[in-house]
Amino acid sequence: MNKNSSNVMALAPNTPNKRETVCIFGTGDFGRALGNKMIQSGYPVVYGSRSTQISNLIPKDAEVLGHAEAAQKAAIIIIAIQRQHYNFLTPLAEVLHGKVLVDISNNLKLNQYPESNAEYLAQLLPGSKVVKAFNTVSAWALQSGTLDASRQVFVCGDDVEAKQMVMDIVRAVGLTPLDKGSLLAAQEIENYPLQLFPMWKFPFFLSFGLTAFFFFYCLVLDVIYTYIYENNNFSFFIAITIPNRVFPVMALILLALVYLPGIFAAIIQLYRGTKYRRFPDWLDKWMLCRKQLGLIALAFASLHVVFTLVTPMRAFVSWRTSKGIISQALNNKTEPLNHTTAWISDSYLALGILGYFLFVLLGITSLPSVSNNVNWREFRFVQSKLGYLSLILCTAHTLVYGGKWFLSPSAYKWYLPNIYMLSLVVPCAVLVVKFVLIFPCVDRPLTQIRQGWERNPKYSQ
Ligand code: NAP
Repeated sequence: MNKNSSNVMALAPNTPNKRETVCIFGTGDFGRALGNKMIQSGYPVVYGSRSTQISNLIPKDAEVLGHAEAAQKAAIIIIAIQRQHYNFLTPLAEVLHGKVLVDISNNLKLNQYPESNAEYLAQLLPGSKVVKAFNTVSAWALQSGTLDASRQVFVCGDDVEAKQMVMDIVRAVGLTPLDKGSLLAAQEIENYPLQLFPMWKFPFFLSFGLTAFFFFYCLVLDVIYTYIYENNNFSFFIAITIPNRVFPVMALILLALVYLPGIFAAIIQLYRGTKYRRFPDWLDKWMLCRKQLGLIALAFASLHVVFTLVTPMRAFVSWRTSKGIISQALNNKTEPLNHTTAWISDSYLALGILGYFLFVLLGITSLPSVSNNVNWREFRFVQSKLGYLSLILCTAHTLVYGGKWFLSPSAYKWYLPNIYMLSLVVPCAVLVVKFVLIFPCVDRPLTQIRQGWERNPKYSQ
């Protein structure tokens, strides 16, 4: 997450009285959409095209000329043409000398070519100043003006002045430029539009796999077992009861999985006695998707809240309540209030509510609009300290709720433990190891390692 927003340029467009002419090579979808937007923002636009015939698709205030003629009219030329046709630019090298060329192209596959399209363009025309920009904005979004996706335009290039000129255009058309540095960043920028929720894949598949596993686990114990041994048909449990057992279990396990990689990282650093060696790949990837794991956990916790709130509306619950009342009436005996049960039920509800409240707070602070407004220390306080507190409260909520079954033999149907017990394994392990890690004799060397101290320094002074 980018905590430093200083490289995000101010939104206010720089509005000189007269804007410089901009040339666009290519009258295809993107060239037309961007040209139209630029004309609306006050830029004179001239198209360089293979055909100078004006079609009614081309913005009406734009001029259409041959490539060389159009290029002579502007200092900035936007290349709205696919990379495979870039060869046609080589004969224009002389006329393009010293001009700013904006590469907006994308590829069909990640890392399709050894070098980025922008670097390839710079190699073809070494006398021009190549800037990469606009490739993450779609022609449709520019044309419809909805711009539902990100308004950020990643810009990179080796010439600072050229980059500045392009960023002025970006701002003028109502978008936000984000300076990504030199042209070396172009490959990364070109890969962005090809990615489909890359950070969500592992959390999504893991959640899907665990949910399916726990759902069938509950189905076997709560429906099939009851049907075989007690001759009760509780198949309707599939709709609310089982999901409402699986959701909290998933929320708790995923929340613990957000903090588990940090524990592994600490153990690895303590074992190696240095922070200057890379973590294994799997741990790096796991650390990078902690936010996504946390948000999925929050979604499961929210579903648990909603499913719990509708419990009194269920026919099964009203039947069970009225059965209890009638049985008391028939026996002419009111059951006395069991204070232990009352304490347990109120405590687990209170722990759950507090845990969920902190969980929501963690979710809110992970939103870019919020995290950009807190400093690194505040962010870490919420995500680490309050996060652990939320994990403690949610684990306690589960322990208090399910604890009474731990020693009861009837809880072990087919010798299998209840899912509440299974759900506690990872969170309890995380909390116990974390507790050990905060002991001064462990915490001190770990803090030193994180500040750069090494047990066996590679370079002695
Ligand atoms: P397009 O509709 O196919 O237009 C490409 C234009 O390139 C053509 O209209 C043509 O313009 C010109 N052209 C085609 N073959 C050529 C050749 N052999 N020599 C010279 N010029 C040639 O494609 P597009 O969707 O506008 O995309 C253009 C570029 O923008 C691509 O690199 C794409 O990756 C990038 N981009 C597109 C979008 C999008 O949403 N469409 C979004 C981001 C980036 P003339 O007929 O006028 O010569």
